[in-house]
Amino acid sequence: MKHFSLSRIREVFPEFNKRPITENDFWRACKRFRIIVKQLPLSVDGYCERRRGRYYILINSRLTGYKWLHTALHEFCHFLFDAPDQNENYVFYRRPYDRDSIRDGMKRTVEARERFADAFALIAMLPMPELERLAHEDLTENHELLRLCQERIKVRADYGL
Ligand SMILES: [Zn+2]
Repeated sequence: MKHFSLSRIREVFPEFNKRPITENDFWRACKRFRIIVKQLPLSVDGYCERRRGRYYILINSRLTGYKWLHTALHEFCHFLFDAPDQNENYVFYRRPYDRDSIRDGMKRTVEARERFADAFALIAMLPMPELERLAHEDLTENHELLRLCQERIKVRADYGL
């Protein structure tokens, strides 16, 4: 995975995969990189774009809780790793993207990038120590967190983090 540059991540989040990255950490990082974050009613969870020299992260204003943070971190990951040339305008949609309109190779690239951004968000939210702590808790009543933990375990198998 060319993508997972832990050193690049830790320049921004020194405690990535050590302690949970919070909403506050996200806002602080956006401020540091002068990313403009907007919360609007969108037809997708979120997207990020670069326009006229500024970076934007847009988040669906209907999202809350884990879903909000997951989307915010997913988009931040695109900023960190997928932003092309500084002078280019671009936009990354959070899903659904138009699967039929992109060629196979391109499609694989896009899918790998999306999977990676999801993995980044999950690791940020549920670092290993947190996952181990939660393994001893009864999560049967907390379906959302339980599902996140299950996905996080898959990420560990896929990326080794
Ligand atoms: Zn994405």
